[in-house]
Amino acid sequence: MSKENKKRTILQGFEWYLPDDGDHWNRLAGQAKELQKMGITGIWLPPAYKGTGGIHDVGYGVYDMYDLGEFNQKGSIPTKYGTKEQYLTAIKKLQAAGIKVYADIVLNHRMGADGVEEVNAVLDSSNNRNNCISAPYPILAWTKFTFPGRNGVYSDFTWNASHFDGVDWDDRKKQNGIFLFEGKSWEQNVDKELGNYDYLMGADLDMGNQEVIDELDRWGKWYLEQTNVDGFRLDAVKHINFSFYTHWLLKLRKESGKELHTIAEYWNPNASALCHYLDASGHVTTLFDVPLHFNFNKASGNNGNFDMRRIFEGTLTDARPDYAVTFVDNHDTQPGQALESFVQAWFKPLAYALILLRDDGIPCIFYGDLYGIPHDNIPPVKGLPELIKARNFSAYGTQTDYFDHENIIGWTRNGSPDMPDSGMAVIMSEGPGGSKYMCVGAEHAGETFVDLLGNCTDKIVLNETGCGDFKVGGGSVSVWLPEKACTRLTE
Ligand code: CA
Repeated sequence: MSKENKKRTILQGFEWYLPDDGDHWNRLAGQAKELQKMGITGIWLPPAYKGTGGIHDVGYGVYDMYDLGEFNQKGSIPTKYGTKEQYLTAIKKLQAAGIKVYADIVLNHRMGADGVEEVNAVLDSSNNRNNCISAPYPILAWTKFTFPGRNGVYSDFTWNASHFDGVDWDDRKKQNGIFLFEGKSWEQNVDKELGNYDYLMGADLDMGNQEVIDELDRWGKWYLEQTNVDGFRLDAVKHINFSFYTHWLLKLRKESGKELHTIAEYWNPNASALCHYLDASGHVTTLFDVPLHFNFNKASGNNGNFDMRRIFEGTLTDARPDYAVTFVDNHDTQPGQALESFVQAWFKPLAYALILLRDDGIPCIFYGDLYGIPHDNIPPVKGLPELIKARNFSAYGTQTDYFDHENIIGWTRNGSPDMPDSGMAVIMSEGPGGSKYMCVGAEHAGETFVDLLGNCTDKIVLNETGCGDFKVGGGSVSVWLPEKACTRLTE
């Protein structure tokens, strides 16, 4: 694990059901100092360009990537999150607080075209996209993007059917389906789910068309110049030619001279697929550890019968720790969403301790966990701000694992001389409560440790070798810190 990664603590700065009030950029700007104080070092902002749903679009229904809330298109000037001016102000305020800004980049598809075109297309089986189930016939496809509301400002590029591989709607027959345009083929270097998972939704960009590549290069340069963001979160990379971002990112990094640290979303529960993407794309990006999310989801719903010794089994954190961005939930896994697989509330503090207080992985905290999801009456995860602080002030030094019991696991960190009163003992149970004898380090001999989360209220005095019998309640986690550190972190 590189030192640089260890310092990173990222917040996903939104959840699906934020109000459509055009005020979120302002909210985040107002939270910058509080987030910095908590120990957040990076924030992933939602897509900032105009979506087909206008002010109601979460951002993934991309319409015009040059409209960052500046032009009257799709029913409003602002996006769901605000105007371009507010976006740029929020970025500046977050950066001024020492928080790096990650922009959400959605290049796979476009939606809400300005006009239809007649295109010859074949219908592919939706379950096996390699399987063509019709002869070519003319369909009416929504592929003409002229952006009349922007009228050529920033770019006069317009899109037509030649820039796309296919769509999922024939406006002549009013028919749904996976339509592949005649003379086109799905990109081969993509995820193999459904035979070929190039097509996800909307009008699917043809990354084999040089005009498309050139336009995306121009847009990336423009966007970086306009916004001065520090890095990217890449959407839906399993649906895009695996070498595309190698080209796009390396070019932008070279031109800008910036690091442009990047996290990509490759939604697949198998670490082998994620490792393949890392290799195939030349390790230009880190990836969300999707398998770990599913382990958390399973553990939380298994009635105390999950073997906690195996919580990291089959994860990217285990296979490629330097490229793993760990997370508990996100805007797609929250209740009501496409990939709903929400980790149960009782397990969330355990999951966050696992991603925040250990050595491996870059943790990404979900806005809906930090601030709650009012739309579904879901409260904030109890103790999460304290866990984030503990990561930054206490989770240092050698990590010693005690993954030796099917219900109760733990680990210790012996601390760093550079961080006063650092070091900790973490213990959690997904079954009944109990205790575990763990050693923090001889330098902590005789120190009194207390539970930062207040789940256990007694005090533990370490013996002459810096070891102690640490307790935990049932279905709970306790983070034992030197008493002095605990007082400071809860002030
Ligand atoms: Ca695609």
